[in-house]
Amino acid sequence: MSRLAIEGGTPVRAKPFPEYRTIGAEEKAAVAEVLDSGVLSAFLGTWSPEFLGGPRVRKLEEEWTAYFGVAHAVSMNSATSGLYAALGAAGVGPGDEVIVSPYTMSASAAGPLLYNAIPVFADIDPETFCISAETIRAVITPQTKAIVVVDIFGHPADMDAIMALAAEHGLTVIEDAAQAPGAKIGDRYAGALGHIGVFSLNYHKHIHCGEGSVVVTDDPALAEKLQLIRNHAEAVLQQKPGGGGDLNNMLGFNYRMTEIEAAIASEQLKKLDGLLGSRVERANQLTELLSNTRGISTPVVRAGCVHSYYAYALRYDAAVVGVPRSQFAEALRAEGIPIAEGYVAPIYLQPLYQERKLYGGTGSPWNDPAHKGSVSYERGICPVTERMHFEELIYTGALHGQLSPADIEDFGEAFHKVANHYCRAAA
Ligand SMILES: *Cc1c(COP(=O)(O)O)cnc(C)c1O
Repeated sequence: MSRLAIEGGTPVRAKPFPEYRTIGAEEKAAVAEVLDSGVLSAFLGTWSPEFLGGPRVRKLEEEWTAYFGVAHAVSMNSATSGLYAALGAAGVGPGDEVIVSPYTMSASAAGPLLYNAIPVFADIDPETFCISAETIRAVITPQTKAIVVVDIFGHPADMDAIMALAAEHGLTVIEDAAQAPGAKIGDRYAGALGHIGVFSLNYHKHIHCGEGSVVVTDDPALAEKLQLIRNHAEAVLQQKPGGGGDLNNMLGFNYRMTEIEAAIASEQLKKLDGLLGSRVERANQLTELLSNTRGISTPVVRAGCVHSYYAYALRYDAAVVGVPRSQFAEALRAEGIPIAEGYVAPIYLQPLYQERKLYGGTGSPWNDPAHKGSVSYERGICPVTERMHFEELIYTGALHGQLSPADIEDFGEAFHKVANHYCRAAA
């Protein structure tokens, strides 16, 4: 058995893994065409055909509806904007509670605050790291208005059970599929499983266009609200024939996508199948290699689901291996394997939630008299999330479809080397 790199031995992997690169000649040509046209964005914040954007924006939206099998697609300048617009379209407001995940990128939880509503955290499922019907049910109150479910790391949340629960209580479900384009339950795409789905096109995602997002829904009324919030609702509604109507949250922003981003995103969407297919192959290869590694549990893929492996997340059992997670991860990093301990800290531990200071530093919206009830952000409210984050989860974002089978073998070899070394020492 060779010496661990952390103890002076030779690392399994001396050179860095290839980075994920998806932008090529197709995107370059598409951008050149936009530049040649001289029109980099064709949106107008008036009730006119241009209210819905330029030709490439609309083409992207059509392609998105066809690919994901949804009725409406509304592009935005980021998934953060998309999540905020979705909450606005859902009619979330003062006094409402919105159930969110504590284990996600911060924007999936913060959106309710924009509309003076209260984020309430449901715990995650220890297999998929997503919130579940069970954990959501535990925090539903008469104030609950909506749920933001995240298909975290690329595994779809248990959306059928969540939608059934939401129907029971009349709640709107927003599915944050930023990490899960191409993930599936059966033949249905993640992102198309809730009332509104949000995809991201930022640089770190499977496909990207700089910054961008597409928001999808089958509900025409929600689609129109999304379009209005994207583009100066307050100005446009007064021009719209028969406008006015439901003014709830009809304050618009500028969340518009440019023609350049739309042109790039169209090319990227064509590549999604191929990029995802090879990523899943590599992930499966690693899962196979690690299947009998003591102290390590490989990612769970529920029956009938496609996991998109935005991140490859493992669970670590310190009691089996005999060393703390930090030491195990440090040893892996010394072997040349990029591994993080945990993902992002449970969101309710952020100062925003701990101190409840936001608008004017007054405690609003938490102390708004419209809000009946109380919400806790104490450490301990989501014990599974805390255990995963602080004790068990190790993950890498470096695994993708442009790695070779030999690269994956290095991952496997390093895990075996480190796990065997410490397990033997513990035995
Ligand atoms: C990346 C990400 C977002 C935000 O996406 P942007 O397009 O960068 O605003 C939201 N939710 C999740 C789960 C993400 O991974």
